[in-house]
Amino acid sequence: MQVNTLIFNDFSENTYVIFDETNEAVIIDPGCFYEKEKNALVQYFERKNLKPVKIINTHCHIDHVLGVDFLKEKYGIEFYASKKDEYIFDFLLVSAKMYGLAVDKAPKIDKYIAEGDIISFGNSELKILDVPGHTLGHIAFYSEKEKFVITGDVIFKDSIGRTDLPGGDLDILLDSIKNKLFLLGEDFTVFPGHGEPTNIGTEMMHNPFLRFD
Ligand SMILES: [Zn+2]
Repeated sequence: MQVNTLIFNDFSENTYVIFDETNEAVIIDPGCFYEKEKNALVQYFERKNLKPVKIINTHCHIDHVLGVDFLKEKYGIEFYASKKDEYIFDFLLVSAKMYGLAVDKAPKIDKYIAEGDIISFGNSELKILDVPGHTLGHIAFYSEKEKFVITGDVIFKDSIGRTDLPGGDLDILLDSIKNKLFLLGEDFTVFPGHGEPTNIGTEMMHNPFLRFD
């Protein structure tokens, strides 16, 4: 599998495109909003000769879903996310207005996914962990074989996700990090929702928000 990062919208959100030797691709957290960002993503698929097959989201905050409807329409593909994050859509338009973004409707989740489900594409698969705390239905996608995890806004290099938005809870977030993500193993590469990649071992040692005694 190849993991590629495109950085989109006013929140510098990481959109990940993952594909394998079959050229089937999944898009994780499509944040493309402006025309030039949508064009950049389409051109990326064309240049690499990729076939987008699924949109899968770590969570449904506005900066992670801005490109969902565009991709659903353009490629006729489905949007997979946690049912437990649907509450966010109740105030998505209010959030958009607050940030000055012209958004007229929330996307619709086509398939609900949670821990225990497997995302398949090409010859590859990603497993799912429930990692709530930043939102109620936050999930992470990982490859056991290739030792990487897409963590959304749960953990960042030297930081952790905010817990002051609706559905956020610091104790639950820390539990998700300690008892889910850290158990994957120190050698797992972490691809977060914002900022640069890191790995589990580095964050265990150096993340200032994660001093577990
Ligand atoms: Zn978020």
